[in-house]
Amino acid sequence: MQIRLAAPLQSDSVVDGFGVRTVIWTQGCSHNCPFCHNPETHDFEGGALIDLEEVFNDLDHLKGQDGITLSGGDPLFQIDPVLEIVKYAKKIGLNVWCYTGFTYEQVKELGKKNKKYLEFLKYIDVLVDGKFVNELKDLNLLFRGSSNQRLIDMPKTLKSKKIVLIPESDGIMEKYSKKEKLFI
Ligand code: SF4
Repeated sequence: MQIRLAAPLQSDSVVDGFGVRTVIWTQGCSHNCPFCHNPETHDFEGGALIDLEEVFNDLDHLKGQDGITLSGGDPLFQIDPVLEIVKYAKKIGLNVWCYTGFTYEQVKELGKKNKKYLEFLKYIDVLVDGKFVNELKDLNLLFRGSSNQRLIDMPKTLKSKKIVLIPESDGIMEKYSKKEKLFI
């Protein structure tokens, strides 16, 4: 199986979720958010097709990373390969964040037609959901661009069957670090 990526894996990011993370930039998005920061990732024929084995090999050789972050583009336009990637990441002990222009509710709707979307959510630690809305842009927000977007704690959300957000209190960065083992 292959995945279309916009760029090689990018390690050592500290702005795409808690801790030190490797970002997987997927190619392809049709949400068309005005003022999107990554318009070069929209073309579904752009970027490059990469074998999943190559991605897994890259993940195997990561050093000093707390987890991976799926971004783009919108990873959910490639549900088959991203599902395999999140499964593999979990298997080797990485936590997983995913940015998507779909809302959580829309992802669940997609899951009614294709169960892979629901399975995917089980492997996600934090889902950053919703389109970027320029009118709601706020530079003070944690790990997201506009205030409509949410940092959804997926394990707690699935367990309680209601949306649980990551709290944004003082010290939250330290609390959610790998050292504290709040992520698996
Ligand atoms: S979902 Fe993300 S990549 Fe897609 S248009 Fe919106 S901001 Fe850009």
